[in-house]
Amino acid sequence: MENNKTRVLVVEDEKNIALLLSFNLTKAGFEPECAYDGEDGLRKALTKPFDIVLLDIMLPKLDGFKVLEGIRTRSDIPVIMVTARDDEKDKVAGLENGADDYITKPFSMNEVIARIRANVRRSRDELITKVNGEGVITVRGLSVDRTRYIARRGDTELELSKKEYDLLLFLMENVGQPFSREELLGKVWGYDGFLGDVNTVDVTVSRLRKKLEKDPSNPEYLITKRGVGYYIQ
Ligand code: CA
Repeated sequence: MENNKTRVLVVEDEKNIALLLSFNLTKAGFEPECAYDGEDGLRKALTKPFDIVLLDIMLPKLDGFKVLEGIRTRSDIPVIMVTARDDEKDKVAGLENGADDYITKPFSMNEVIARIRANVRRSRDELITKVNGEGVITVRGLSVDRTRYIARRGDTELELSKKEYDLLLFLMENVGQPFSREELLGKVWGYDGFLGDVNTVDVTVSRLRKKLEKDPSNPEYLITKRGVGYYIQ
């Protein structure tokens, strides 16, 4: 595994707070990345595989509520809103499908770290529950039914070969986590060491993209992480 650290996107325009958060989160074993305005925050949240977002409300370009709205059109990633005032807190509490949690400024680092851990754990538990309960893993409309060997995008069943299905299932089980081609050869094909040709992985990825992506050259689900490998987001 390349990296098992929890990746935290910190969207915060006050640089001193962002840096303080980033410093302490790194010290606590997380992998933080900062965005200093709402537009950049939304772009990063939608294009990179984070585990959780810490989202300030008062932000330049796009406020936290708009960023959250944008994130929710594409992703179920846990979002903790950071509020500065009581009226913001009420607004967050009133959001229906929005934030998973909120923290009020000024906050203590220990509180932030505890909330991040709790929310990441809960979201992972939910994913596992989904898998165990019905045998179906779903990522934004893309689903794999493990007991019946069926993959669907929306209501459409995808016609996958055995290896395409195995690869998709493995990446969906580890959503957000990139794997190198060598790792995939081991995990999905059962080859280890010097057996097998990594091009096999590329060929299967490319076939799979043609079947599940609307635009295979601009994938929404099966993403290439440059220099690392592939993951499902
Ligand atoms: Ca702010």
